[in-house]
Amino acid sequence: RRQRQMCIRDRNNIAPNTTFETAVIKGLAPDKGLYFPENITALDPSFFDTIETLSNEEIAYEAIKQFISPEIPEAVLKTIVSETLNFDFPVVKLTDSISTLELFHGPTMAFKDVGARFMARCLGYFNKNNSNEVTVLVATSGDTGGAVANGFLGVRGVRVVILYPSGKVSNIQEKQLTTLGQNITALEVEGTFDDCQDMVKKAFLDEELTSKMQLTSANSINVARWLPQMFYFMFAYKQLKNKYKDIVFSVPSGNFGNVCAGMIAQKLGLPIKHFIASNNDNNVVTRYLKSTNYEPKPSVQTVSNAMDVGNPSNFIRIQTIYDNDFNTLKSNLSSFSFTDKETKEALEEIYQTTGYVADPHGAVGYLGSKSYLTTNKEAHCVFLETAHPTKFLDVVESVIDIDIPLPEQIKAVIDKTKVATAVNNYTEFKAFLTQL
Ligand SMILES: *Cc1c(COP(=O)(O)O)cnc(C)c1O
Repeated sequence: RRQRQMCIRDRNNIAPNTTFETAVIKGLAPDKGLYFPENITALDPSFFDTIETLSNEEIAYEAIKQFISPEIPEAVLKTIVSETLNFDFPVVKLTDSISTLELFHGPTMAFKDVGARFMARCLGYFNKNNSNEVTVLVATSGDTGGAVANGFLGVRGVRVVILYPSGKVSNIQEKQLTTLGQNITALEVEGTFDDCQDMVKKAFLDEELTSKMQLTSANSINVARWLPQMFYFMFAYKQLKNKYKDIVFSVPSGNFGNVCAGMIAQKLGLPIKHFIASNNDNNVVTRYLKSTNYEPKPSVQTVSNAMDVGNPSNFIRIQTIYDNDFNTLKSNLSSFSFTDKETKEALEEIYQTTGYVADPHGAVGYLGSKSYLTTNKEAHCVFLETAHPTKFLDVVESVIDIDIPLPEQIKAVIDKTKVATAVNNYTEFKAFLTQL
């Protein structure tokens, strides 16, 4: 059987190549590097020439199979793909030069549903003989927790433990991650997102724990969460290819998993002219492309809080795609950053000029599109609407005088009872994991 090699990229690049299965179950390589496909083979150009004749499921299957088949048999992979993608990915035109790709039609109304659902099903398959029981640990500032909770609910042999900072996620987000029960447990941490993240990192390094249980992560460092995010760049292209020549994606970026997945789609041959990484004040990449110095800083809090990341974990993968060549990267990626004030003004501008209600992350993507268009007038920019505005209601309603009706997905959880265990430090967290 041909083994699909996932190779590991980090500073040392010393860990051995491994299979997709191991990469998904372990999350991180033994030397703490990120897994990355060893080979990326472009699809036949005819695939993109005739993409409008294919269903989303067919597109996704063709795009991802080289990384996963035959480890997951074709028929199983087809089922995983179609169960993952059972909602819409519409492109909405706002102006002649700007459209938005709505990624919020899934169960928790953020793009992370796609990767979470895909990864959960892969893990479920690898545990089919109950030989790979895993505990997924997730620290969340909001969206990841809900998407992972929902995506992994009821998956056999997978236990999910979500850590979230008490009082720092929105009411809707808290309900999405604390009300499901079954194999999902929420831990409410008296502290910040960074405290949650630190506890998770510490657990991965704690040999007393890892000798007893298989821990993995469901953040975008996990290949099975990250890679399927390339699908919707293709779905957008399918809708736009006969209308515009130069398609540019503006991606509101935090950990840079989404934009990096788009670049994989481009490597597979998707005709994308350029990428824009749109940042809030957490702008290490914007500064890097200006100065050539990569200088991470501690994160600062903004109104687009899912992008409050000081040191994006997927940037190393982006550098790998461009063979660490600054100039090649820069010719394919622009980056702009925007303040909270500008973001709120953009929410209002979008609403006043087009009637569209964006969320704060989408608004940052809109601003990135506008900045790029000032010097690239021929382009058609598509910004990713990464979450539904309902999820950031307080920000949106502070700017736009409108009542947003609660979507069905939110109605389904909003009146449920929160169940969460308080955890205040690593000792308590470890005690909790040990008794699972
Ligand atoms: C996670 C998230 C982002 C950032 O995505 P990355 O892949 O981490 O760059 C942007 N917007 C929303 C709403 C998110 O939940």
